[in-house]
Amino acid sequence: MDNNMLSALDNIKVVLVGTTHTGNIGSVARAMKTMGLSQLCLVAPKSAPDGQAYALAAGASEILAAATTFDTLAEAVADCALVVGSSARSRTLSWPMLEPRECAELAIAQSNKPVAVVFGRESSGLSNEELQLCNYHVCIAANPEYSSLNLAMAVQIVCYELRMAYLTAQPAAVTTEQVTYPSSAQMENLYQHLETALLHTGFIIKQHPGVVMTKLKRLFNRARPEEAEYNILRGILTSMQRLEKVDSNTHKE
Ligand code: SAH
Repeated sequence: MDNNMLSALDNIKVVLVGTTHTGNIGSVARAMKTMGLSQLCLVAPKSAPDGQAYALAAGASEILAAATTFDTLAEAVADCALVVGSSARSRTLSWPMLEPRECAELAIAQSNKPVAVVFGRESSGLSNEELQLCNYHVCIAANPEYSSLNLAMAVQIVCYELRMAYLTAQPAAVTTEQVTYPSSAQMENLYQHLETALLHTGFIIKQHPGVVMTKLKRLFNRARPEEAEYNILRGILTSMQRLEKVDSNTHKE
């Protein structure tokens, strides 16, 4: 297998948010290693990996030892241009949905930049705010009367699909020119820039922000601007702000 293909799975990280049971963290490491993934991120775990975690990780202890820990999901995915959040409930928010297979194909196709697949808490999954940090949601079709899988088993299914997509991806598809997308951190900067500009123009009122920003995030998320388009949007906002400054200086005179 060539190096391009190897780096595809290395660029996909599994992010676990607020995990309660350290045993689950260990089982996730094992699930990842069996499918050839290695990048594990923990966001505010209830406890750091302990003996129980290492026992369940079995031969995948190096993945646990190398896991990186963050305080927030935003920090964990800041460098990622594609973020997919998994949820047992498909209708929590109306957000673009993927089947695990489509999710894997997309992740492999876009693995020229870091990709994150995010998994939630055992008790309550991912919060709406965390789900909004994701470009897509992935739902494993399960018994509608009991659709919540054990965390590590959900990771296993998604990682299996990633491995299948990685094995079937044609080397040609990897070497053809790939579009680059802005990272999650860049998109957060754009949203902040946009919000500041809209507060200035009075379109958003600070005391009553309403759902405008959530709707706009959903719109941009659906459109998935490419890096060049992102730069145009930032440029437009900057030019608007420059104009406001000129205006207010003119009024002062
Ligand atoms: N009770 C929680 C489910 C937690 S299961 C809830 O209602 O949301 C822990 C995590 O495993 C979930 O946050 C999700 O990331 C993953 N998961 C479990 N079942 C899943 C499914 N059917 N599809 C996608 N992800 C699932």
